[in-house]
Amino acid sequence: MATVLITGVNRGLGLEFIRQYAEAGWTVIGTYRDPDTAKEAKALETANANITLYRLDVSDAEAIAALADTLQGIAIDVLILNAGVMAERTGLGTFNAEDFQRVMNINVVAPALLIQAFAEHVAASERKIIVGMGSTLGSIGGNTSGGLYSYRSSKAGLHAIMRTTSVDLKDKDVIAIAMHPGWVVTDMGGDGADIQTEESIAGMISVIDNLTSKDSGRLLTYAGKELPW
Ligand code: NAP
Repeated sequence: MATVLITGVNRGLGLEFIRQYAEAGWTVIGTYRDPDTAKEAKALETANANITLYRLDVSDAEAIAALADTLQGIAIDVLILNAGVMAERTGLGTFNAEDFQRVMNINVVAPALLIQAFAEHVAASERKIIVGMGSTLGSIGGNTSGGLYSYRSSKAGLHAIMRTTSVDLKDKDVIAIAMHPGWVVTDMGGDGADIQTEESIAGMISVIDNLTSKDSGRLLTYAGKELPW
């Protein structure tokens, strides 16, 4: 059975990813940052022999390298770079350097380091897919509402990383995409969002299942629609 590795699985989209992939019979490797907030994910791990969780703060470069070592020799069919943060929610006058840098570190630097650390694990697998959790808010062409300086910049940066990876790992037949999960009810998306995690994740898993090499380098929604960069 295929293997998926997902970051940030203690809540929100990550938690639903491990639930649905485990139900579908995949071998699921999930990472969480803080054991105190990972009780639900740990209960899933206890109930499902096909889920294994590791502790990982994605802003810790040494910890990323150590996990890649721990998982050496394990082929990862689908790597999902899900962990992410949003800081200021409005615009000019509301952000500061420290928060901006934290958002860039977690949403841009960490996914790049994770791809670097796990590229060979993915290339050694059958499906060879890397998914960066992007956003319409990172679409430069689609930005007509402004605000959210750090989050928009970080997701645009992540989109650039996914596109670059699609070029750099093409000769290893790796498919790299950015994906917009929809506007989803989570701590980040808020209660007024459009869809629930169940619908978003079911859609993304279906899109991922049907990816071909022609999709590499694209930004796709959970419904499989292509968005402009
Ligand atoms: P969420 O409920 O806020 O969950 C964020 C996840 O990222 C949590 O598991 C969190 O773990 C983890 N995380 C944050 N910093 C981390 C770190 N340093 N190391 C490891 N894990 C860390 O958000 P979500 O809605 O599920 O979002 C998941 C992804 O989808 C994010 O990349 C987000 O930008 C993207 N996205 C979401 C929406 C939406 O509408 N919800 C739309 C577009 C894109 P902790 O609990 O330990 O902090």
